[in-house]
Amino acid sequence: MTYQNDLKLFIDGAWQAGEGRDCHEVVNPATAQTIASLPLATKEDLDHALDAAQRAFPGWRDTDVDNRAAILHKAASYLKKNAKDIGALLTQEQGKPVKEAVAEVYGAAQMFDWYAEEAKRDYGRTLVRPTGQRSIVIRQPVGVVATFTPWNFPIYLLAKKVAAALAAGCSVISKPPEETPACTQAVARALEDAGLPQGVFQLVHGVPDMVSRHLIGSDIVRKISFTGSIPVGKHLMKLAADGVKRLTLELGGHAPVLVFDDVDLDATLDKLVPQKFRNAGQVCVSPTRFYVQESIYDDFIKGFAERTGQVKVGDGLNEATQMGPLANARRPDAIEQLVNDARDKGAKVLAGGERGGNGFFYQPTLLADVPLEADIMSNEPFGPVAVARPFKDMDEALEQANRLPYGLAAFAFTENLRRANILGDRIEAGMVGINNFAISSADAPFGGVKDSGFGSEGGKEGLETYQVTKAIHMS
Ligand code: NAD
Repeated sequence: MTYQNDLKLFIDGAWQAGEGRDCHEVVNPATAQTIASLPLATKEDLDHALDAAQRAFPGWRDTDVDNRAAILHKAASYLKKNAKDIGALLTQEQGKPVKEAVAEVYGAAQMFDWYAEEAKRDYGRTLVRPTGQRSIVIRQPVGVVATFTPWNFPIYLLAKKVAAALAAGCSVISKPPEETPACTQAVARALEDAGLPQGVFQLVHGVPDMVSRHLIGSDIVRKISFTGSIPVGKHLMKLAADGVKRLTLELGGHAPVLVFDDVDLDATLDKLVPQKFRNAGQVCVSPTRFYVQESIYDDFIKGFAERTGQVKVGDGLNEATQMGPLANARRPDAIEQLVNDARDKGAKVLAGGERGGNGFFYQPTLLADVPLEADIMSNEPFGPVAVARPFKDMDEALEQANRLPYGLAAFAFTENLRRANILGDRIEAGMVGINNFAISSADAPFGGVKDSGFGSEGGKEGLETYQVTKAIHMS
């Protein structure tokens, strides 16, 4: 599919083109070539979006839940029907292999389908008092929501927020990343095609700091949901504090992977290596810090390095590609700095360790025996780099796993059930995968602890995050 080049804003049920607006150049990370020009929202555009969302809210809130669900299901169908074309856009904007891109579109569709049904299961509760009195507890939509989503899973993360917010009866203003506009516009087209009433959803690209200050500073917005880096999350939290606004923050991670000596090593490595390099490691739950029991450590790093060297790197549009470029020019610079620092401090580079190609490529990399003082042991690489260190016993493994202020995802591989239970209990993370990487689904809560943020997305918790609770006492 050729790249669609008519990028627009979607406000108050209408598509707004570039007239008189500043523009952002969209770059294909596989070639470093500019492929499109994206109009950026002005303050007037944002005021228009706020006004539209405020006007549309009461109507959508009061729409029968079956009708709301039917619209969300229809949006899901649009995404599924067009998954191949939308996936190709995503690959050209973000770099990931086209198979992963198409799977992401299906994941986004699943969010709309799942929340369409979950909206119907939103029951309150009744407290029965002795003298015929009753108290009832209900949940209501919070109001106008502003969402801010990143470029690593631009369609899936947008859909996760928008599907839950719309299911709850909120109207929404979304600012997706400027790096990947066409694929996120597909979500707006899906909702438009599904017959979502005018003003219930708007999509505004823009200068991130200007857009977030303007939207969060408005009395109209009652809830903010952000996925991205910890520094930006802290900044938005401060902006939200002024208006006492509800906030969900899904920030970074530095996922530990504890590998015990009772596993089938080859089978485990066959699972670990493709997961590490999925989306070139630009995944907030990417397995990164590999702590391996000392009796199998040497075999582990040898097997990991061999498999890493075999990963096919290239343009994501090529069906044979297993790992594409990094998403933007900032990422290879950041990775290069972390790898050089680790190497200087004594880490062994067992695979990769270099940039590659004309686009924003960095080779799949394994660093072994990495000293704790290396920056990469404390700072999330968000790229195709695995670090490995040996451990003696479970206590040491847990201490290492929990040593950072991050607490998003963690993984452990062991055949010992009792040990697996203890690890599940004691690892400080919002999600723990035991012999398993499938930790993100529509029906389960996803979110971090510690500096990785708070609030959940997915599951019934994901719906509640767009609701306020009210108790009504009747005598
Ligand atoms: P960044 O901190 O500049 O931006 C992160 C995201 O926040 C981007 O989507 C950006 O558009 C948005 N953003 C930036 N400033 C904003 C503002 N003032 N208001 C609203 N949104 C704003 O970093 P980056 O170079 O784009 O990405 C690098 C780091 O971000 C990574 O190292 C990783 O830690 C983190 N990140 C995390 C996730 C995640 O899924 N949790 C996704 C993408 C990036």
